[in-house]
Amino acid sequence: MNLILLGPPGAGKGTQAKRLEERRGLVQLSTGDMLRAERASGTALGKKVQAIMDSGQLVSDEIMVDLIAARIDRLPKGQGFILDGFPRTQRQAEALDAMLAKKGLRLDYIIEMKVDESALVNRLAGRFSCTNCGASYHDVHHRPKHEDVCDVCGSRDFVRRPDDRPETVKARLKTYRELTAPILPYYRAKGVLRTVDGMAPIDRVAAEIESVLERPGAASNG
Ligand code: ADP
Ligand code: ADP
Ligand code: ZN
Repeated sequence: MNLILLGPPGAGKGTQAKRLEERRGLVQLSTGDMLRAERASGTALGKKVQAIMDSGQLVSDEIMVDLIAARIDRLPKGQGFILDGFPRTQRQAEALDAMLAKKGLRLDYIIEMKVDESALVNRLAGRFSCTNCGASYHDVHHRPKHEDVCDVCGSRDFVRRPDDRPETVKARLKTYRELTAPILPYYRAKGVLRTVDGMAPIDRVAAEIESVLERPGAASNG
């Protein structure tokens, strides 16, 4: 099963993708995590995208499409995946469709996580993530079960993203509104978009996603 989690920064895509990895054996493909890994290892690509990411703009479609295509190619045959943070523009959405068709793959579900923009600055200001596995936590809404230990992998190292500061978050939300939200009608028109209430508590959102996955997906929409 292959799916996309779509929603603004802070909607809970990463949080739910990790849950789906555990519950369903899917692999999370987070383009944000991939870019941060490039930066951390100081690659040419990492250096190239640094300033763009820090300002809340989008990295070019060409770079992103190549990055995700290479990643999908490396998956074991039949391994289902969750796209988190991709596609983010109409061109990426179209390139993804073409790429998957060429590989003989398809998307079963596109899940929109609907949230009030007013909640997002707070969600991101309180976000911290495990440096080892990327699991994301929140100072108030989602603390690790054992203080300072990652629930998922047991690591004790956490980071806060510099682009989660409110000034940059505002730029990222503007980018989302202008470039990413317009792809929702594209998927809606294809009849494959499902919407869940991303404002509900994390467990409730997870349950709502499960109930979407239990209903027929794209294959039966013709
Ligand atoms: P969030 O999960 O908070 O929405 P991400 O971690 O997905 O944020 O992305 C961080 C940054 O990486 C973005 O602000 C953007 O600069 C870049 N980025 C990630 N994915 C893409 C993409 N598909 N297209 C263009 N830029 C991207
Ligand atoms: P995204 O990947 O969409 O940018 P994250 O999954 O990283 O978002 O979540 C952003 C922040 O909000 C994190 O600190 C996370 O712990 C918290 N969070 C995620 N889902 C919820 C929720 N349903 N209610 C409250 N806080 C949440
Ligand atoms: Zn971890």
